Order: sequence, then C-alpha cells, then structure tokens
Amino acid sequence: GMKTAEALHMRGVKVTIVELLEKILPIVLDDASSAWAQEALEKAGVDYVLGDSVVAVERDGRGDVKGVTLKSGAFIPCQGVIVAVGVRPNVAPLEGSGIDINKGVLVDDRMETNLENVFAAGDVVEAYDLILGAKRPIQLWPLAYRQGLIAGANMAGGKKRYVGGFPINSVGFFDFKVASAGLSTVEPGVEESFEVMVFEDKERGIYRKVVVGNNRLMGFIILNDICRAGVYSGLIWSRMDVSLFKDALVEDMSMPEACRLSAHGLEPWSFESMRDFRRMGWALFPRSYRKHFTAMPSRIEEVCAFESEVCTI
Ligand SMILES: Cc1cc2nc3c(=O)[nH]c(=O)nc-3n(C[C@H](O)[C@H](O)[C@H](O)COP(=O)(O)OP(=O)(O)OC[C@H]3O[C@@H](n4cnc5c(N)ncnc54)[C@H](O)[C@@H]3O)c2cc1C
Repeated sequence: GMKTAEALHMRGVKVTIVELLEKILPIVLDDASSAWAQEALEKAGVDYVLGDSVVAVERDGRGDVKGVTLKSGAFIPCQGVIVAVGVRPNVAPLEGSGIDINKGVLVDDRMETNLENVFAAGDVVEAYDLILGAKRPIQLWPLAYRQGLIAGANMAGGKKRYVGGFPINSVGFFDFKVASAGLSTVEPGVEESFEVMVFEDKERGIYRKVVVGNNRLMGFIILNDICRAGVYSGLIWSRMDVSLFKDALVEDMSMPEACRLSAHGLEPWSFESMRDFRRMGWALFPRSYRKHFTAMPSRIEEVCAFESEVCTI
C-alpha cells in the first residue's frame, strides 16, 4: 500500500492513505518509528487518515468512482481506490477435503497435512513461528520458498524438517527505510517479559530498537541505516544467548570502541564458543568496519592479540 502511494505520488497523483489502526504500518512499526513514517509522509505532502476505514465506494451516474465514505462518516473525493489490507489464505477449495484447517492449512514440520502424502507450503499454510512458538500463517516469500523446498523433498522421499520462521519486513518509501522482524512492536516498559533497547538519533535519522526475551533476540526495528538487519535476523534465527552484549546491540560503535569489550563487561573468553564470539562481533560492528573481520583470526588467543592491536589505533 505504501509503495503504491509513493508510486502514484511520484506520478503527480494526489493520494490519501486511510488506515484502520491509529498509526502508519501498525503491524511492523512501534509508536516511535511509526511517528517517523508519519513525518516522512507529511514531508512528502501525502495525506493520511488514521483510526478510520472505508465503508463505501461512491460512484457517479456513469459508474465512475467519485469518492469514498469512511466509517466516521467523512467523505473523501477521489477517482480511484486501491485496497491493500493484507493477505488471507484461500482455503475454500479445501472444504470437505478432510484436511485440517485453522486460518490456513495446518502442516507438521515436514510440511505434511493431517492426510498422509498431502503436503502444503507457502502463503496458504500455518507453519511454525520460531518466536511465538506456535503455528500461524506468515506470508513471506523466503518462508514460502523454504517450505516449498522441504515439502518437495519430503514428497520425493526425503527427510527434511522445517525449523520455523518469523516475519521479516523491509520497505522504503518517501526517504523512509525500515527493516523489522519478529516481535517488533513491543513498546518499552509495557510487557515485563521483554527488555526493549532503543538507540535514537533524530538528527542523523537513526533509530534502532531490539526486543529481547529470555535473553534471546525476539525482534527489531531499524530505520534508515539498516545495515544491521541481517545480523539481527541471524541472532533471531540462531536463538543465541545475547545476555552478554544485549545493551550494546543498538549502540553506535566504531570497531576500536567495540573491540574494547571489557568496557561492556565482555571478554572473548566470556563466550561459550568462537562461533558465538564471531556472531557478537558481527552484531556490534558497523558495516564499514566489517572488512576487518573477513581476516578475523580463528583462535581466541589470536583474537586477544588482534583486539589489543586494533585498540591501540
Ligand atoms: C503485493 C505483494 C507484495 C509482496 N511483497 C513481498 C516482499 O517484499 N517480500 C516477501 O518476502 N514477500 C512479499 N510478498 C509475499 C510473497 O509474494 C508470497 O509470500 C509468496 O509469493 C508466496 O508464495 P506461494 O507459492 O505460497 O504463493 P503464490 O506466489 O501466490 O503462488 C500461488 C500460485 O498458485 C496459483 N493458484 C491459485 N489457486 C490455484 C488453483 N486452484 N489451481 C492451480 N493454481 C492455483 C496462483 O495463481 C499462484 O500463481 C508480497 C505479496 C504481495 C501480494
């Protein structure tokens, strides 16, 4: 919807966005980042209406669209309407088939339905959500791809299992770029079971937020400077314990700063494995410094030497 609004706006079409909930992109943005998105729309000169919904498309005598009536009773004159309100599995053709269906087709971790040798994958299924620990539809291409691969392999006699997925979104419109994943909309201080860390620098246009639950990264939002998105996603996938460096996850750090691990109470040997130490490194170091890590030593003693060398820069 936002991309369509942007495209029409760029073609000189006057656009008004009508959003049912009280903020822009409510499924993926928290209150603070949504306010940034609102500002971007305002700066671009795009109108928006929040907390309202279209109840009727009005037409003139010739059948052409002349406007929409909102639930609030307001009328917005317009010549066209684009509906972008989400995705729902079309399970109607499967009614009476005996296949278990909730919101989508229920599958096990082999992507097999309750009927033997009947498999399903993609937007139509409810598969395992790694973060929620429950099954639900997550309609995203990478998950559909992985599920299809697993279903296909198992149909051919393979033994592949789907470990689960989680929502990941990346979109840019009107100079506003966002990457978010998992439980991104948890607000700071609202739910006791989550810790929320935020770094915000309005002047430089940087907003980073991570949601940590049970010492695992559960979700994030990054605005504009989105270079850590892959690393954060990797931390969610790996279910890695981030307790040692969770406060540093959103901080702005140069590599020499980040290498002073002791400043964060961290030492390389605090980590259970070299792999975890590397993951932490990738999580903390801005992209411009990552090239140093392509030559990162592989033994902890070497890392210590490497660290002291870098810290003397
Ligand atoms: C506008 C839009 C933007 C999106 N942007 C992103 C994005 O940026 N990133 C991302 O990860 N995902 C995005 N998605 C979601 C992504 O496209 C889907 O998750 C993915 O395509 C799902 O793959 P699928 O194979 O399950 O379904 P589909 O790609 O929908 O394929 C299903 C196919 O089945 C066909 N079909 C339907 N009924 C029948 C029938 N009875 N018999 C035979 N064939 C049938 C359909 O015609 C279709 O070709 C977007 C989706 C939309 C609509």
